[in-house]
Amino acid sequence: MSSNQNDVVFFDENGLRTDGRKPDEIRPMKIKIGVLSRANGSCYLEWGANKVLAAVYGPREAHPKRTQRAGQAIIRYRYNMQSFSVEDRARPGPSRRSSEISKVSREAFEPVIISDAYPKAAIDIFVEVLQADAGTRTAAINAASLALVDAGIPIRGLVSACAVGKVGGKIVLDLNKPEDNYGEADLPIAMTEDGKITLVQMDGHLSPSEFEEAMALVQKGCRQVLEIQKAALMEKFAADGNFDEVVE
Ligand code: UDP
Repeated sequence: MSSNQNDVVFFDENGLRTDGRKPDEIRPMKIKIGVLSRANGSCYLEWGANKVLAAVYGPREAHPKRTQRAGQAIIRYRYNMQSFSVEDRARPGPSRRSSEISKVSREAFEPVIISDAYPKAAIDIFVEVLQADAGTRTAAINAASLALVDAGIPIRGLVSACAVGKVGGKIVLDLNKPEDNYGEADLPIAMTEDGKITLVQMDGHLSPSEFEEAMALVQKGCRQVLEIQKAALMEKFAADGNFDEVVE
């Protein structure tokens, strides 16, 4: 968020955003499931100009052994931004930002992963951001959700994520980079298929009524993402011949 937000024009004369979208429109999303042969599950996802790659390993014996839990699998999530993914080279290795994103993203999945089926095991989720254009944590969660399915990890449903924000005094869905940089608020959320919110973060300021409007809009955004995720799964598994009965 920046103090010079008043200098930036966010909407044209037709009320469309700098990239031509309506306020309630998400960026185009492209998905390819099962792109890595060594991982148990994987997904490559583009969302606007964001490009992320998710890999899932496990369930496998948790190491080091002291991390094992008797009654359930541990879930680990690593969000990492490649140095070349942003305009100014990102410093390699963990940062405060990436540690925080990894933590909240893991928590976004904990309610849906049926971890008590795998005592002493670990389920590892890795997400690499290859190109960043605002909304990488939500893109990463959407890719990770599909990589978990690809790995055959038992889950109660998909997790879908989207951000909402306030730019030029208006609530808009799925902020792009200029909107994220110069807007007044950015609010990423993740949601389960049955509408439970598993991640909420907020940067900037919203009034209580704006917050309510933003939450309503972002839940619609998550539902749109969910439909795209489901379509990608159908495309992948119907093509593999595993979903014939479902497709019919
Ligand atoms: N960004 C960057 N360098 C960094 C961190 C972020 O250029 O070290 C950019 C990147 O495009 C990112 C955007 O700022 O997508 C917004 O970052 P934020 O922390 O809000 O997370 P995101 O919206 O990607 O989840």
